[in-house]
Amino acid sequence: MKLDEAKTAYTFDDFYLEPQHSRVKSRKDPGASTTIAGLSLKIPIVSAPMSTVTDVEMSLAMHTAGGEAVVHRYMSIEDQIEITKKIRTALVDYQDSWLPFFAVGATGDFIERALDLHQHGVTKFCVDIANGHNVICVDAVRWLLEVLPNSKIMAGNVCTYDGANSLVQAGVHVIRCGIGGGSICTTRQVTAHGVPQLTAIENCLQVKKFSDVSIIADGGIRHSGDIVKAIAVGADAVMIGGLLAGTDESPGATIRDADTGQLYKHYHGMASEEARKEWFESEDVSFVPEGTSFKVFHKGSAKKIIEQLVGGLKVGMSYSGVDNLVDLRAKAKWVRVTDNGRREANPNRKMFSR
Ligand code: IMP
Repeated sequence: MKLDEAKTAYTFDDFYLEPQHSRVKSRKDPGASTTIAGLSLKIPIVSAPMSTVTDVEMSLAMHTAGGEAVVHRYMSIEDQIEITKKIRTALVDYQDSWLPFFAVGATGDFIERALDLHQHGVTKFCVDIANGHNVICVDAVRWLLEVLPNSKIMAGNVCTYDGANSLVQAGVHVIRCGIGGGSICTTRQVTAHGVPQLTAIENCLQVKKFSDVSIIADGGIRHSGDIVKAIAVGADAVMIGGLLAGTDESPGATIRDADTGQLYKHYHGMASEEARKEWFESEDVSFVPEGTSFKVFHKGSAKKIIEQLVGGLKVGMSYSGVDNLVDLRAKAKWVRVTDNGRREANPNRKMFSR
């Protein structure tokens, strides 16, 4: 029976970590540094290549915080080049030549885009496609490495060992892992496909046994505890969209609600109807959205949010008795959670539903 053979797949809420004896004296002591594609990062957080998350300001905020950014590609090549110039100008006083990853896609003008960006100093590219376990993605990685052999290539998204392995065989340096877990994602409803995120990370991690590829857990991070779990299960970093949307540094207008006075911004899935309308002028009746879009309250600075996320990660590390992410991965002790355990963790339950 096919259904009897199905594996169980888990996500963040299915597990907690058991507290362990700790020699960490201050919750500030743990260091959260990691390595992505051989590049050292002070924090294991990458901002998502989405038109309502990452362009100039978010890139600079992520760099200042010690993380990484991936500039979205839903703009002309010229506009992406403008972004490289603005980032360079902002960093010139620090004699810093850092440039983020730039998303280039996997079809159309992606080679021309990558070559033009490379002329402007970009050496890190992201082949971003909904289903990275696809010949289009694999070929795109190969072509990019052929024309720009010294560049760093991130690609995805995938959620299985086979998917991750196909990208490793193509020569990729960083894999984006996660299908269907994003806060604006409707892929699992629309297509029935995807793997709950903790299992997806474990699936992709298997390629680390024979390659030094980095794994980014992408999508579905709702709070710092999810970052602790993603890293503890083995990811090198997490990618974040929704938590960074609606900040001062995310692209897009801040709008005041006429009735309530509340400030908000839009957050679009890149495969949503809204993102399509923003980017393509013509109607395409055959387009099947795999994403949605919503308003997010204006949250102030991304810097503050990143600080809270990293703070929560570090406190989590002290609970596991470790002061670095390598030890967190090695020492983490997992407990499976029942519905009752999950309910017990919810602060509202304590006040209202006893
Ligand atoms: P979040 O941090 O949970 O909001 O997830 C962000 C991630 O969702 C991105 O990095 C993408 O991998 C993914 N994503 C972005 N747009 C879409 C979409 O329209 N459909 C499905 N997934 C999306």
